[in-house]
Amino acid sequence: MKQILITGGAGFLGSHLCERLIEQGNEVLCLDNFFTGSKNNIIHLLQNPHFEMIRHDIINPIYLEVEQIYHLACPASPVYYQYNPIKTIKTNVMGTINTLGLAKRVKAKILLASTSEVYGDPDIHPQREDYWGRVNPIGIRSCYDEGKRTAECLMMDYRRQNGVNVKIVRIFNTYGPRMAVNDGRVVSNFIVQALKGEEITVYGDGSQTRSFCYITDLIEGLIRMMDMPDNFPGPVNIGNPAEFTIRELAEMVIRMTGSRSMIAFKALPEGDPRQRKPDISLAMDMLGWQPRVELNEGLEKTIAYFRNIIKHKS
Ligand code: NAD
Ligand code: UDP
Repeated sequence: MKQILITGGAGFLGSHLCERLIEQGNEVLCLDNFFTGSKNNIIHLLQNPHFEMIRHDIINPIYLEVEQIYHLACPASPVYYQYNPIKTIKTNVMGTINTLGLAKRVKAKILLASTSEVYGDPDIHPQREDYWGRVNPIGIRSCYDEGKRTAECLMMDYRRQNGVNVKIVRIFNTYGPRMAVNDGRVVSNFIVQALKGEEITVYGDGSQTRSFCYITDLIEGLIRMMDMPDNFPGPVNIGNPAEFTIRELAEMVIRMTGSRSMIAFKALPEGDPRQRKPDISLAMDMLGWQPRVELNEGLEKTIAYFRNIIKHKS
């Protein structure tokens, strides 16, 4: 049994990770400021003696005793990370410094939830970990993508300078139950719109691509990376290489929900990457990891989840 801290533990990914690590017999400390996360995501864990919730903003230092840290605190949806961009970069920089400071003091192993956004609008396809990316440092996404690049830099500097045992995972678009109804990311938006019979908002002409990873596959990848020996800090891509256009996704969601919703084409947000697909050879070689859940199957489960939520809300 290990003492494990999850920053951002009440969010979409964090809540699944809390659950999984408790199931494996660990003590989990979930830290969150509830900006995009919610108590509802972890309410079923609150009575569990192996679970503890700490309401805290990670831009302020925190003193705890733990053996492992999964550092996930940061809004992930463009709508929320652009809502208060200065806060987003503070969370990425000061939040990561505080979490690394904690890791250093208590000699904990620390894993950063980085992102495929570090590759920016990539001119290499699919993206491998040794690609340095094409990121606009002054664009509206940079609070997030440059923020995460700085967080990666901090991880490596704490490793080189202070010997902290760090792990970097670059997560590609992940979806599943417990995404917030108003999260704003594409999978939850399309499903909620389809179930409510509203228009499906495709940004641009929908020819841009993303590769969608189901939540259980992602969690497995994170835990495998944390369990890797000290000499493998990453970064490692975790994502599902099956690539879809956004238009294809919209059509799949309409078909699978049996919705009468029509597609409405809206303006493409500034800096929206044209294409994204992970090269996962490194994860396959080093972690023995690959995704198991195909988009069809993952969407089915996610649609069932949102159907239930929306039924209870109306
Ligand atoms: P999410 O928005 O559901 O979760 C983020 C959590 O962090 C929320 O619970 C939020 O309240 C909390 N948080 C935000 N700022 C905080 C702060 N200053 N102090 C304490 N808590 C704070 O998003 P998610 O999809 O669960 O993403 C989790 C992590 O994974 C993020 O770091 C994100 O950048 C990364 N990531 C996710 C994806 C994805 O597709 N889901 C892709 C790439 C990277
Ligand atoms: N998108 C869309 N309609 C929506 C939300 C998103 O067409 O209602 C598009 C968005 O422009 C992007 C892709 O879907 O091209 C993925 O967007 P998301 O916000 O989920 O994540 P990103 O990968 O851009 O961070």
